Amino acid sequence: MDLFHDNPMFQGIRQMMNAFAKQAIRPIAAKHDQEESMPWDLMKQAQAFGMTQTAVIDGRKKLTGVDEDPDPKKPKSQARLSVAASEEMAWGCAGIALALGGSGLACAPVARMGTDEQKEEFRRLLKGVDEKGHIKVAAMALSEPATGSDISGLKTSATRDGDHWIIRGSKQWITNGQSASVYVVWAQTEAAAGRSGVRGFIVARGTPGLVPGKKETKLGIRASETAQVHFEDVRVHKDMMLGVAQAGGQPGGLADTKKMLDSTRPVVGIQAVGIARAAFEYLLERVQGGTVQGTPLASHQHIMFELADMQMEITAARMLAHRAAWMADHHLDNVAEASMAKALGARVAQAVTTRAMVLLGEEALEPSHPVEKWYRDAKIYDIFEGTGQIQRRIIAKHLTGQNPT
Ligand SMILES: Cc1cc2nc3c(=O)[nH]c(=O)nc-3n(C[C@H](O)[C@H](O)[C@H](O)COP(=O)(O)OP(=O)(O)OC[C@H]3O[C@@H](n4cnc5c(N)ncnc54)[C@H](O)[C@@H]3O)c2cc1C
Repeated sequence: MDLFHDNPMFQGIRQMMNAFAKQAIRPIAAKHDQEESMPWDLMKQAQAFGMTQTAVIDGRKKLTGVDEDPDPKKPKSQARLSVAASEEMAWGCAGIALALGGSGLACAPVARMGTDEQKEEFRRLLKGVDEKGHIKVAAMALSEPATGSDISGLKTSATRDGDHWIIRGSKQWITNGQSASVYVVWAQTEAAAGRSGVRGFIVARGTPGLVPGKKETKLGIRASETAQVHFEDVRVHKDMMLGVAQAGGQPGGLADTKKMLDSTRPVVGIQAVGIARAAFEYLLERVQGGTVQGTPLASHQHIMFELADMQMEITAARMLAHRAAWMADHHLDNVAEASMAKALGARVAQAVTTRAMVLLGEEALEPSHPVEKWYRDAKIYDIFEGTGQIQRRIIAKHLTGQNPT
């Protein structure tokens, strides 16, 4: 049964994104994976029907038809809509899904902490096309060569100089890092303050000293660009520092932004579910029609049990992601559920794709085989947006009454 059978709005978006994934994403998935190229044409088309690069700031009314109630206390539908759409897009191709939504990573802190002027500037910087004729995209630059999970060790510094901040440091593994027209870069403003001294800055492409670096070659999600970015004494006006307009006059730092993960982790978890489902459906179809040594595959108990286990695991991971999103939309503390959804989705995607590879045998080892691609795409889900260990650490801290973030 469709999980959204009693909700036409969520059902509608899921069906629409499923059709989009089938007709527009799947046919180009292998090409962009092999070429390791961004699907710029598709991104342009998607923008025209409402999947804009600033959707996280502007809302998704054009795409979903939903006008959220501005009352912050009222339940929202954003997290559940994102979960409904994201499973389908990742089912189509996780790399392309990330290319379509990658700017959202940078938009999220601007939406949460930005002033109206900063939001306007961000929109302006993302308008139109870049020098290559591509739609403009944004990047969120936090991770560094020596700092990923633990941001208190951030080496990129921001030093005050009159009305400006001077940013110096290097970032690594940045989605859209090479092509972005605007960056949200995180830097340490006060070495002794540790995590609470970390601040985000909006920096436009072309600012002197901002140097996009080497593009990484990756195992999976290869349609999404990942690159280094260097900041060589980049001068940024103080008005471009995020968080200055927080309630009580206190600047908001990265800790505030981390709360956003409670909405984004269920989305990352459900993307992993989308990959698992793609591999599972491929396998199921093969089992239904196939034979081995003259006997139907479906008559082999070990194969049937594998299918049953996969279906149980995928369903459980999906429901956990939906629950975590439902809690986010209802303003409930979902920090543990969001981490569980992300960690379980990643584990299920890896488990299902690994077993599908084994059951299909040597054919799945061929580089152009779809299951081989899903197997490669699954791995990243245990690394970005907080590794599997980090999610378990959060869940365990929550269980034992410690501050989980
Ligand atoms: C494809 C891709 C896209 C990405 N996009 C972006 C992006 O757009 N912007 C951005 O800023 N970053 C991005 N990242 C970086 C990503 O967020 C980091 O890779 C991730 O946070 C892990 O950091 P790390 O690789 O430095 O690993 P580390 O933090 O060095 O961790 C190494 C290992 O130690 C474990 N570990 C670390 N701390 C603990 C602890 N306290 N307890 C237990 N175990 C621990 C980890 O689980 C891991 O197994 C991206 C990464 C990839 C691969």
